[in-house]
Amino acid sequence: MTADIPSPGRIVIVGGGTAGWLSAATFSRTLGMRDVTLVESSEIGIIGVGEGTFPTIRSTLAGLGVGEGEFLRSADATFKQGVLFDGWATGADSYFHPFNMPIGGEDEALLPHWLAMEGQRASWADSVTVQERVIRAGRAPKRVQDPDFSGPMNYAYHFDAARFADYLRTISLAAGVRRIEGMVAHVEQREDGDIAALTLRDGRRVEGDIFIDCSGFRALLIGKTLGSGFVGCGDTLFNDRALAMQVPHDRPDAPIRPYTLATAHEAGWTWDIGLPERRGIGYVYSSRHCSDDEAETVLRRYVRPGGEALTPRQLRFATGYRERQWIGNCIAIGLSAGFFEPLESTGIMLIEAALRMVGDFLLPAGSASDTAARNAAARRFNRLMTARFERIVRFLKLHYCITRRTDTAYWRDNADPASIPADLQDLLAQWRHRPPSRFDFTVDLETFLPPSYHYILYGMGFETRLAGGIGRYPGGQEARAAFARVAGASGAAVSHLPDHRALLDHLRGRQ
Ligand code: FAD
Repeated sequence: MTADIPSPGRIVIVGGGTAGWLSAATFSRTLGMRDVTLVESSEIGIIGVGEGTFPTIRSTLAGLGVGEGEFLRSADATFKQGVLFDGWATGADSYFHPFNMPIGGEDEALLPHWLAMEGQRASWADSVTVQERVIRAGRAPKRVQDPDFSGPMNYAYHFDAARFADYLRTISLAAGVRRIEGMVAHVEQREDGDIAALTLRDGRRVEGDIFIDCSGFRALLIGKTLGSGFVGCGDTLFNDRALAMQVPHDRPDAPIRPYTLATAHEAGWTWDIGLPERRGIGYVYSSRHCSDDEAETVLRRYVRPGGEALTPRQLRFATGYRERQWIGNCIAIGLSAGFFEPLESTGIMLIEAALRMVGDFLLPAGSASDTAARNAAARRFNRLMTARFERIVRFLKLHYCITRRTDTAYWRDNADPASIPADLQDLLAQWRHRPPSRFDFTVDLETFLPPSYHYILYGMGFETRLAGGIGRYPGGQEARAAFARVAGASGAAVSHLPDHRALLDHLRGRQ
């Protein structure tokens, strides 16, 4: 926790889901704010899904000053080392998007030499990191003796979304955040358009200086009150519904996968996430390409056996984001700001990114009360968040548009150029003849760095035929030596890391 810093005034958060409580915890514990109030309505409740995270969550949690064991216990969390994609390229393929950077970091020198080794090479992910072998052996990313939030493998977590929100609430209340239970019925604005106060249904009035809209898909402040338009992305990313189930393990000591399994189906894909006591499974699908009944059949076919008696919960969502996420003294964070289907777990990671920017831009002394500085911060925030949203759309679409599946309209439509953003089409046209270059990316705006693009492109079997051959790329010998080092290190990496469930039992205090 940091020492107290001058306050930007009274902060009022509307909404008590992951976005609301992560905001409250960050303001109170990481940023040392003293006047934070959160209003939530148990009548509405929270969305309660969102079980996969991104490695940034580790520094977010460390910043909150909590211990990893306590977090694992409280949120029913497990380790996630990436996403295994089954059936996305041909229907019968499998590839891994690891969180580990390739050997050599972001250096692109290895890629052309791997491309030139066609016919005599391991997969790209297996050539440049040991992580796929680690996950396929069911190993954890760290050892008992590693410090909190770090280990030899890069990792994030899976957790129970409702328990995570409860945990964040507990630690926020302990840090002095005020919680008000109630339904916001009216939003009062000043003449300049800034929000002055909220009126609850029972008549109570909550005044503030900065309002954080974490009201979920309702977008109560940023959308309904301030009228920020919604930029829909449904013509590119078709999925707009999900059916979710919580399926008990078939035995208490069943192995827990240390990765998310994402399996492609006729009109979407299933997530399969292992928690200590159960699996979270959901089918994300496009209502334009299948009915809810067909979706349920696909989900049940996937879950069987073990799910016959369970009733799935349906979630509907619009894919897209708000034109402006920060207007005047209101900042939208979480689903109110935007949402894309859960592929690659961008929801919570965008909450973390927004909170970091708010911490840097708004909270330093003075800028919240200096209207010109505040509005300049808002413009910068909106530009950066919009760029992030656009690039995430591009990255998610990459998972679909280079498929070679033609078995259903869903996959054919996904590869139809009309659904592919123009900048992605331009990149793909070039990547047919050269590997991606760092000049293809503005790294500060990317949530997914170039190595993630490489893992998806070449995991999907995308073909790059090097124009002019390998001759213009130096470093062939070094590249082959690097691939050999990775192959040689994988046995030791696997044997030095513990079984996933065994480590969780230990860290959760059960052994
Ligand atoms: P919510 O949880 O909906 O919370 C909204 C809050 O606002 C509630 O407390 C509600 O009571 C309150 N509220 C609303 N109106 C009022 C009012 N008038 N008065 C008082 N209170 C009000 N993200 C990931 O990072 N990883 C994933 O794997 C992932 N999977 C997902 C799968 C699906 C199918 C969906 C739909 C989303 C997924 N997400 C995922 C996104 C993730 O769930 C959200 O980003 C995250 O839970 C934050 O939600 P939220 O707090 O913005 O909204």
